[in-house]
Amino acid sequence: MKETLMNRLTWMEYQERVRDEQAPVFLPVGALEQHGPHLPLGTDAILSTAVAEGVAGATSGLVAPAMAYGYKSQPKCGGGQHSPGTTSLDAMTLAHTVRDTVREFARHGVKKLVIVNGHYENQWFLIEGINLAMRELGKTPLTIMRLEYWDFFTPPTLAKAFPDGFPGYALEHAAVLETSMMLHYHPELVRLDRIPNDPPADFQPYDIYPTRTEWVPPSGVLSSAKSATREKGTAMVNELTTLISAAVKKEF
Ligand SMILES: [Zn+2]
Repeated sequence: MKETLMNRLTWMEYQERVRDEQAPVFLPVGALEQHGPHLPLGTDAILSTAVAEGVAGATSGLVAPAMAYGYKSQPKCGGGQHSPGTTSLDAMTLAHTVRDTVREFARHGVKKLVIVNGHYENQWFLIEGINLAMRELGKTPLTIMRLEYWDFFTPPTLAKAFPDGFPGYALEHAAVLETSMMLHYHPELVRLDRIPNDPPADFQPYDIYPTRTEWVPPSGVLSSAKSATREKGTAMVNELTTLISAAVKKEF
């Protein structure tokens, strides 16, 4: 089995993989953010890395070290910035970090780059970073694919995971999807006895600044994670790995 982690290769081995073999390189992106009383702060980068590793295994790819800090946690999809442990970047810091990283991969001769996002709030700043890099690079043999891994869940999988109805990805923070996937990849990191069973957070259709922290459930979890299981996680992970691998093969 080929090595899938970039940081375990020497520069010569890496060069051979990206230049001669044209291996796709996966850049996982996450956040350091509260994930309730039952999941670790690093959940988003842990999950995007695990997904990327599965897909890299199926596509002879390489996984770069994750960008472990993300854009600011928003009350309605991440619980907000007031929680201890949540450690976030300004938008331009994130966009510029992505821009710089993409530019370096292009210089290495990488032709296929897949940015795997695991933190809802990051999306537009990843796009900005990609856009700035592409503008600077001009004509380049590098093609970039960007994805939020959850967009690959199919309606039948969501129906099975949420028999009472899917609350939407924003409220799914530290809830059934992330908890089930963590139970699959890293069960030792899930505090099973502390999984909260709060009703979905009830937000207004607007935001107030400074943040009304009282809108956010005290646990930091935005909908119940109680029905998370390892079986659901395994089914989700198998589906994601298959569908993302197929998409990468199709585009590259
Ligand atoms: Zn998360």
